Amino acid sequence: MPLYEYELCDGSCTACGGKFTLRRPISAPELTKCPGCKRPVRKLISSFSTPNILKPTSYSDAKKAGFTVFKKVSKGEYERQ
Ligand SMILES: [Zn+2]
Repeated sequence: MPLYEYELCDGSCTACGGKFTLRRPISAPELTKCPGCKRPVRKLISSFSTPNILKPTSYSDAKKAGFTVFKKVSKGEYERQ
């Protein structure tokens, strides 16, 4: 399955932290809302130049929703939780 990377359109999700990756079947419809917080998300096309990554308060919620959660460890690098 392809791995998609999504970013919240408006910032402060406590479930996914504003950025997440999700494996979905290629036949699945494009995700438009965060499964955790129901806020709108957009699929990232290429670069990782998002300036403000907010720290999620609940990784377990995000994981429950099927997320792979990443913590920003340094510029351009994310650590799997
Ligand atoms: Zn969210």
